[in-house]
Amino acid sequence: MKKILIADDTPANITFLGDLLKDQYDIIVATEGTSACEIAKKELPDLILLDVMMPGMDGYSVCRALKQSEETSHIPVIFITARNDPDDVMAGFEAGGVDYVTKPFNPRELNARINTHMELLKAREELKTYAESLEMLSQQLLNKTKELNESVRTDFLTGLATRLHIMEKLHEEVHRAGRGKKSFAVIISDIDHFKKINDTYGHECGDIVLSSIAKILKDTIRAQDVLARWGGEEFLFLLPETDEAGAAILAEKIRSILGASSIRYSGKDIAVTMTFGVSDFDIKSGIDTTISKADRALYRGKNLGRNRVVTYSSLAADEK
Ligand code: GH3
Ligand code: MG
Ligand code: MG
Repeated sequence: MKKILIADDTPANITFLGDLLKDQYDIIVATEGTSACEIAKKELPDLILLDVMMPGMDGYSVCRALKQSEETSHIPVIFITARNDPDDVMAGFEAGGVDYVTKPFNPRELNARINTHMELLKAREELKTYAESLEMLSQQLLNKTKELNESVRTDFLTGLATRLHIMEKLHEEVHRAGRGKKSFAVIISDIDHFKKINDTYGHECGDIVLSSIAKILKDTIRAQDVLARWGGEEFLFLLPETDEAGAAILAEKIRSILGASSIRYSGKDIAVTMTFGVSDFDIKSGIDTTISKADRALYRGKNLGRNRVVTYSSLAADEK
């Protein structure tokens, strides 16, 4: 049951109001202003019926004090008073009352007014709960969006950047190069005869080889370099502030590290080689052309017998 505090210094008024409301509400009472404040803070009633003229603290002061305190400011206060001068009514509203009922009042009307304010209170509480759950949902949505953004930028198997992510980074680099900053180079590398690894040892082994190679590559590059899984067994490197010759040196380094390593699977050591195509960025031809050039060089490397590094600039005119 909702709780109503009746504050009035005339016992007969309290009895009358109490009898009127006791079937629908829990009733608590106060017979002067100061105790009305204390009881309100302690009991936190759902509504307060407040007399204006009381000894000590009058109704307006009680109302102002309740409105100023955080725990009680939300409790609706209805003034019930014999004073019906418009100035008195206004003073009641200014003190923070939600309604003003003058004596003698019609009991049914008072009941209707109390019900209205109780309904308003309920609606406000529901709105608050609703707003809180909306806030929670929007936070969850934000977290999910972050997760999703993260997941489309991270390759699930190797943990490397995805095509989408490295394309964003490449466009940033193109911008920097356009502002006169040092240019960059790209490498595309492709595992040699990877299909044979899958065919010989199974797809699961192929996956392990892919993630092991990804780790070797990642451990060899610098922090500012970006490495992506470009396709099935193809990787794209973005190397800021690097020219083609510098990129070729890195590719050679990786090639020799791979040559000295093997990947252990089910008691066997599997040797893996890669072929690398290298190109640097040329502002006149754009990023797609730069990637195509690296791809041309890779293709040439495959034709030359694999396990090698080929730069685009080394290609003969008819291979370009
Ligand atoms: P090449 O030296 O000419 O590159 O020969 P290759 O066998 O490496 O190239 P090919 O394109 O013929 O085969 C690539 C294989 O990579 C085929 C495909 O099933 C496999 N592959 C692609 N993605 C994955 C993957 O995520 N996991 C596994 N296990 N295999 C994959
Ligand atoms: Mg391959
Ligand atoms: Mg391939």
